[in-house]
Amino acid sequence: MIKYKSTRGYSEEVLSAQAIKKGLAPDGGLYMPTSVPKIDLDFIKKLGKLDYSGRAKAVLGLFLTDYSDELLTKICSESYSAERFTPAPAPLVKLDENMSVLELWHGPTAAFKDMALQIMPRLLSAALDMTGEKKTALILVATSGDTGKAALEGYRDVDGIKIMVYYPENGVSDIQKLQMASQEGENVNVIAIKGNFDDAQTGVKQIFTDKTLELQNAFLSSANSINWGRLAPQIVYYFSGYCDMVSNGTVALGEAIDVCVPTGNFGNIFAACIAKEMGLPINKFICASNKNNILTDFFKSGVYDKNRDFYTTVSPSMDILISSNLERLLYLVAGSEKTAAYMRQLNEKGRYEIDASVKEKLDKLFAAGCTDEENTAKTIKYFFEKFGYLADTHTAVALNVTREYLKDNPTAKVMTVSTASPYKFAADVLASLVGDSAKDMSAFDAIDELCRISGKEIPLPLASLKGKRYRFTKSVDKEDMKKEVIDFAK
Ligand SMILES: *Cc1c(COP(=O)(O)O)cnc(C)c1O
Repeated sequence: MIKYKSTRGYSEEVLSAQAIKKGLAPDGGLYMPTSVPKIDLDFIKKLGKLDYSGRAKAVLGLFLTDYSDELLTKICSESYSAERFTPAPAPLVKLDENMSVLELWHGPTAAFKDMALQIMPRLLSAALDMTGEKKTALILVATSGDTGKAALEGYRDVDGIKIMVYYPENGVSDIQKLQMASQEGENVNVIAIKGNFDDAQTGVKQIFTDKTLELQNAFLSSANSINWGRLAPQIVYYFSGYCDMVSNGTVALGEAIDVCVPTGNFGNIFAACIAKEMGLPINKFICASNKNNILTDFFKSGVYDKNRDFYTTVSPSMDILISSNLERLLYLVAGSEKTAAYMRQLNEKGRYEIDASVKEKLDKLFAAGCTDEENTAKTIKYFFEKFGYLADTHTAVALNVTREYLKDNPTAKVMTVSTASPYKFAADVLASLVGDSAKDMSAFDAIDELCRISGKEIPLPLASLKGKRYRFTKSVDKEDMKKEVIDFAK
């Protein structure tokens, strides 16, 4: 059995069902497996013959050893069914001999969060069963847009769970609002907050730490990316992409690739680190950031410093100053004692500097780069004109960093991760192709025009939004958030 322990070293070891149920370890750290399971090339060869849910079962089975084989098989095939992911969960697109794109946005909300949020609710529901939990898990989410919808889709109608999402009334796009407010499902609730995202997030955090809050038959749980149940499923697609690069002849079995990831909270790229630890042939991780380039600076200088300006960009899911999952990487290369010290410094001063020995290890594993707003737009245009490939704003950040990397490493075989459908950010993508006038178009007009110009299919979940009705229209003051939670938990 594989056990899990905290990155900060002060909590007892637990099995995966417990780690998934708890989310955060009691000492404030994140759960990590006490040892990472190893695989060989034969494992990869066999994986290549399976469909995505088979690959998911094989990889997850190595980590979630307290889940039965039967249960995992069922969970994986339900989560990654053709009905949920069309045409497939993680198709690989080969642009040329050096560049391949792994597309992770073919799920119900057209963004990569679906890869984890489709399966995590089922893992949690099973964990409640396995640990004999009698109470309902109430998932509480504050969202600035994408995570809220992906969580609603994932948790809707899952046994033993309710989900409640708060979003800032004037802080999300019209499409995002419609996506959430039209949500179906018996166990869901969506409420607007009169305020901004910070108000929503602060309100939710207060509810989580409120010692006076008493829910009769429920306990609070979170859906964010610090939970191991969200991280583990992300390891799978790196294996899947590699298998596809072998089968289409881009690399020979065993030959190393480089992986470039558009990074925000560091969950996606960290899953690649685990894949390499297990034995997947990866040479370098290329960490791509937008104008909020705190990670680029960190990998270059060894200093993490969040005392800096925050920018709002066309790739909002990467607008972040604290990348929570970086803590897991530090733990892996520096151990729990140093990690706890760094996190203390981050808390107290907003800054820490890693030791020379830790920096040296990271230099061997990582390259990093960033893309500003102008180059994001130029990259979208370049890839569309040169390859007929239409990238969203987040993917474009990574594709530009990939191109820069290839200038210094011309024989590298890079797999660049694509995290959203271009239609999810249609106005900005369109503006990159035809000029800034497109930014004034309504979201649905921009989607139609982008379709006309590019000829690329609009994902069904976005196309079918047109004409959907608002089901949830409630909007409350932030002081009333707690009361709403209590009512919904009944
Ligand atoms: C969440 C998200 C990211 C960032 O992923 P992390 O795991 O937070 O690094 C990048 N692109 C899109 C479209 C996202 O939704």
